[in-house]
Amino acid sequence: MVQWLSASFRCLFNRHEPVHDHVTWDGAHYIGSCHRCGSGVRREGQGVWRRDWLQL
Ligand SMILES: [Zn+2]
Repeated sequence: MVQWLSASFRCLFNRHEPVHDHVTWDGAHYIGSCHRCGSGVRREGQGVWRRDWLQL
């Protein structure tokens, strides 16, 4: 329960974590899908993954 809340909390604040086996390079950024909320995410820095609004 606590784990689920903290996971959702991080996604709410746009701190996602990709499914590492499905990360791809699109020519400009690493992109993938968040393993918690399923959103398309884009890497903005070391360990920083933000929701990719281009990929709905
Ligand atoms: Zn997420």
